[in-house]
Amino acid sequence: MDSMDSIQEFQKFLYDKTLDGRRINVLALVGAGLSAPSGVIPSNIGDTDGDNVWRNYSFIDLATLDAFDSNPALVWLYYALKRHQALKAEPNEGHKVLAQLSNLNDKFNLLTISQNMDGLHHRSGHNREKLLEFHGSLFNVKCTNFMCYYSKYTLKDPLTDSLDATKYEDSENTQLPTINSLDQLPLCPECLSNGEKYLLRPGVIWFGESLPLYLIDQADEFIIENDIDLLLVIGTSHTVWPTSSYIDVIKNNGGYIAVFNIVEDSEIDKIKETSNTKVWNFIGDCSITLPKVFNSFINS
Ligand SMILES: [Zn+2]
Repeated sequence: MDSMDSIQEFQKFLYDKTLDGRRINVLALVGAGLSAPSGVIPSNIGDTDGDNVWRNYSFIDLATLDAFDSNPALVWLYYALKRHQALKAEPNEGHKVLAQLSNLNDKFNLLTISQNMDGLHHRSGHNREKLLEFHGSLFNVKCTNFMCYYSKYTLKDPLTDSLDATKYEDSENTQLPTINSLDQLPLCPECLSNGEKYLLRPGVIWFGESLPLYLIDQADEFIIENDIDLLLVIGTSHTVWPTSSYIDVIKNNGGYIAVFNIVEDSEIDKIKETSNTKVWNFIGDCSITLPKVFNSFINS
């Protein structure tokens, strides 16, 4: 079947599902492949498709709680740079289509689970109540005081004068700003108002940290409460958790699967040989394939 046929077949599936005024229940799993066309390098250092090292530091030096405890300045300089780079990137047409679908309440009941931390979902207008950022976000900051629950979403750049990434973004040979005092790093305003000094940390999930349970619960609740008609796998592969675990759930529920990726995911494709699950593989740059497949449905 050529791609034009499969686009038409997929669109017919969408129209048929909504014919009687019913909403389609959709779970979208999103990975780094959606942000790649925006020029964003995945933020989780040490991930298979992310940075391997930065200035000869590995994820052990930059993306663990131990690293932050022993050298918060270095960790903050790294994340300040990632924030700055992500802010320079723009959401692409793929992000925008997903954002539109998240707001298409009369036809689409969507929950997006994203592994991306680059803030591009937010900036493309994705409905925030329908977005679970499983790995956290570069633009969340949270207090390190165990007793304090302060956390905030902020696009401020730089977060402090000392974390001005424009001073060291050009080359890894440029010397990093010298940070001698914790006061030069982001401090928790709530603790400060109580006369205590506690650092804020990036609100991302580091190696060795578990995902917040409430996010997994929210995803499970959505799947249990709604009969999922369609699983969208966007810019991620079947091997990446949580995609791997949700594919089986959707398959067993009788839902269909549409994959948007640069390469064909032959493992997901095999599902259709062993079950009644329909699988569409839309191969190519997600920022092109998503609008091509969804625009007429969104505008109908
Ligand atoms: Zn605090």
